[in-house]
Parts: sequence; C-alpha cells; structure tokens
Amino acid sequence: MKRFAIGLTVFLLILLITAGLALLGYYHLSSRSSSDVLASGSGEALISVSGELAPSQGALPLEESVPELPISSESSQPAGPSEPSEPASSSSQPSEPSEPASRAQELEPMETSEEDQWRLMLVNQTHLLPEDYSFEKAEIEGGFTFDARAAEALIQMLSDGRAAGYSLRVVSTFRTVERSEYLYTNKIAEYQSIGYSAADAAVEAGRWIAPPRTSEHNAGLAIDVVSSDYDQVYGDLMHEFEQFPSFAWLSTHCAEYGFVLRYPKDKQEITGITYEPWHYRYVGVEHARKMQELGMCLEEYVEWIEQQTAG
Ligand SMILES: [Zn+2]
Repeated sequence: MKRFAIGLTVFLLILLITAGLALLGYYHLSSRSSSDVLASGSGEALISVSGELAPSQGALPLEESVPELPISSESSQPAGPSEPSEPASSSSQPSEPSEPASRAQELEPMETSEEDQWRLMLVNQTHLLPEDYSFEKAEIEGGFTFDARAAEALIQMLSDGRAAGYSLRVVSTFRTVERSEYLYTNKIAEYQSIGYSAADAAVEAGRWIAPPRTSEHNAGLAIDVVSSDYDQVYGDLMHEFEQFPSFAWLSTHCAEYGFVLRYPKDKQEITGITYEPWHYRYVGVEHARKMQELGMCLEEYVEWIEQQTAG
C-alpha cells in the first residue's frame, strides 16, 4: 500500500507539474501576444528617439537645403506683358520681352545674314555659350585679343577716340571660360566674407561678374574700356565712369563702329546685369545703329529680329 501511495503521489505530482507547465505555457503565450503591444509601444518610443536625433544627425549642408535662390526685387515691378527673366536664378525661364517688339513692328524689317549668327549671338544667364564654340582671335593691342572678325572695328574705335582727345584704356577683352570661373568664384568669396550666405553671394556676384559661359567676354565680342583720367580716381570698374567725357564719347559713337552699350541703366531688369558704362559689345554697324534707333538692348533686339524674320 505504501508503494502504491508513493506511486500515486508521484503520478499526481507529475500531473500537477504538467498542468502547471501547461498553464504557464498558456500564460506565456497569452502574455507574449500582449507583449507585442508593448513592443509596438516601445517601437514608437524608438522612433521618437530616432526622430529627436534626426535633426542633429542628419543636418544637411546649407547648399543642399536651399536649392532655390532668393527672388530679386523684380516682384515689386508692375506685372506687364514683358516679363524679363531673373538674373542668375532661373535658367529655365526664357526671357520674353515682347512689348518693345510689337511697338517696333511698323519699322523697316532688317535683313539678317549668316554673319548675324555670331554678331547677334545672345550670351547671357539663359543663353550659355556653346561648349564647342570656337573662333579666330586677333590681338587688338597690348596682348588683348578679340574675335578677329570684329578686331579691326574695335581698333578703329579706340584709335578714333584717342585721336579725339580721350585717353581710352582697355581693361578687358576676350576672356577664357576658365578666367571667368576664377573671377566669378572670387566675387562670391568676396560677398561671403562680408556675411552673405552662399546662395545670396552667388546672386550678388552674378550681378557683377557673369558666370562662366554666360559672358560675352568668353565669346571675344565684348570690351571693357575706361580712360586714364578715370583710372586716376577709381581703381575698379564703377558706375561713376558715366560722369567722364570719355564715356560720353564712347556711348555716342560706339554704334558707328558696330558696338553697343550692352548693359544700359534702363535695361537692368531685362539684361539681369547691373548697369555697366564700360562694357561694349560688337553687333555690327547696321544692328548697332538699329538698336540705338529702337532703344533696345540685345535681348529685346534679338527677339524683334526673330519676329521680323518669322513675318
Ligand atoms: Zn565686360
């Protein structure tokens, strides 16, 4: 009997243990299903932790976080049919100054020639000089070079101006794309050193120095010219050049040699370039005279020509 009792006790104990284990197993299973809830809760906690970390860990460089350049003061201009393109910031927007074109349509149509492909070539922020653009260069004086097809006209203009008593001094003519890159980068650094952000500095620099391949100097068709008396007072290219008699002579006579004052004061919104009394662009005598007559800058004139040709 004793053995039977022991055996029964052992059996009952095993039964109890099994049942207990089964219960524990059930509890364990059910507690696991509720621990998923906890897990998702802690998952949220993890997310929020990593979310808090994100701004400091993943802070982007300033250049990447501000892809849009600030819009210029043009927004204050009255909205008209002619909407000049913005300087530097909007390479995708075509410049469409259509207003002066319609005004000029009653005038005699211009004959365009193959020469006009380079003479009237628009080089600006929205019209980059083709990478494979090449042309023959000729020296005009003192190592300064120019497009050979226009060099003679330039030499004549300088010569006649000097003969008339103006001490014209050449500052810049043909400039390589690499040189433009260097000047542009330096100007940006100059603005950044006085507190401008990278984006703002690029905009400001672009108002003074044309970015590479947006400069007519890269095409060998532009000259920056001042005079000795100006040089004695100003060390850099400044608007004040307009107060000098040599500017009066240049701006009056440049068309006779096929040149135009390329960035006039009253066309800054269209050209996107600050007034430059020293910068002259070769377009050929007929076009220069016509532009003067119409009071158009090159952006306007090229559009006008296109409309004339289209009929
Ligand atoms: Zn220039």
